[in-house]
Amino acid sequence: MTSGLHSKIPQAVTAFLILAMASASCDVTRAEDKPGFFKKLFGGGGKTETPPAPTPAPKSEPAKTTSKTTSSGKPPRVIITTTGGGSKKKVELNKPTTSTPPKTVAKTESKPEPIKDVTSSARRTEGEFNPDAGDKPSSSKPEAVTVLPANGGWEIVKIGGRDYVTAESIRNFYNPVYGFTTFRVQGNHFWLGSSKLILKAQVGSQELLINNIKFILSFPVQEHNGKVLFSRLDLCKLIDPVLYPSHIENAEYFDTVVVDAGHGGHDAGARGIYGYEKDFALKMAMAVRTALMQRGFKVILTRANDTFISLGGRVAIANQTPKSIFLSFHFNSGGSAATGIETWALTPQSAAATISRGGGYNINGVTGNKQDSANIALATAVHASVISRFKFVDRGIKRAQWSVLTGCKRPGILFEGGFVTNGAECQLVASETYRQQVSAAIGDAVVNYRKALESAMAKR
Ligand SMILES: [Zn+2]
Repeated sequence: MTSGLHSKIPQAVTAFLILAMASASCDVTRAEDKPGFFKKLFGGGGKTETPPAPTPAPKSEPAKTTSKTTSSGKPPRVIITTTGGGSKKKVELNKPTTSTPPKTVAKTESKPEPIKDVTSSARRTEGEFNPDAGDKPSSSKPEAVTVLPANGGWEIVKIGGRDYVTAESIRNFYNPVYGFTTFRVQGNHFWLGSSKLILKAQVGSQELLINNIKFILSFPVQEHNGKVLFSRLDLCKLIDPVLYPSHIENAEYFDTVVVDAGHGGHDAGARGIYGYEKDFALKMAMAVRTALMQRGFKVILTRANDTFISLGGRVAIANQTPKSIFLSFHFNSGGSAATGIETWALTPQSAAATISRGGGYNINGVTGNKQDSANIALATAVHASVISRFKFVDRGIKRAQWSVLTGCKRPGILFEGGFVTNGAECQLVASETYRQQVSAAIGDAVVNYRKALESAMAKR
């Protein structure tokens, strides 16, 4: 991710690894059938742990949760409709339709409605966020706060023109599936947990840990009157598709994986200690191909040798391959101490990239945004599968408008499989055994992903 060819970003795709392989036999089941599906989507990454014992909180008693699990086990869908943009937008958060979601949920036995796009309502408003000023919204000036009346059980707080939902609303909404037993705000720290799922966040931070897998939110967690708030965009574009992938609205069935080895030919990519990124990426792609084929998938390689292929050419291959998903493999570069794995999904419309060179603020949306929910679910499956099996530093699931993602009509991600500029990590990357093991994890992840979305795919 450093110099040279990577400096062309956002047009260029920086160092990523493409790990895409899928295979058979995973018992991922739908949320409504088996609440533990989330763990399965994570490829076993879910860890069950309990929050630390409440210590004397400076100001407030840690909130206690009262989680009453309903027998339904099936949450209603978040429905967010917008009529018009800007300040005229109207938000409707349907189902739960009362402020006591568990009860509401219990009677919602019919098929939940799919989540609707939220982007038009989350448009940037003047003074709220300056995409040129950095990666994070400025908090230097006070922002207007409006607490809207609860709508269908959803508590919405508008800060600086952006909608946020309270953590309580999120808990209530997903409680039927996850049976939360812990809801705690302690200082800036927030915990929401059950035996199946643990969310951890910190006010002011963009990091969200879900079962100890790191996600980078589009907007920092906020707090108002003691309530922890997540942006509505993050709810719709990250939290919901990850917690409830079986109802991703436009999921498409796939039996083919387009595996993209980053760089090639005159584009060597990062110069690592034991070789060039382009060569490692090709070797990884070949290993992933093997793992996916072993799991019953068809595989198309964007390149099978040391050839240069334009970024547009890679996208064209993906778009021309029916019933496919797209996995791009790269390796990272940085200072000698930099290590870890990161997975990139396309920045949602009306959100900013995680890093400044990642395409900035996605104002108008791009082709790839049609797959937002599938993109983040796929990123989750792959990232969590690898992180849970290897002792890598978790750099998180991040957002950027990399060229191979912006134009891709299929669900796609970019995977960076380690830093070739770090001695120990490059040694791993250079190991065939390592590549095979990571490829197996990626293969399992693709299987998990397809199973997690199976019911959504069946609707089409
Ligand atoms: Zn690269």
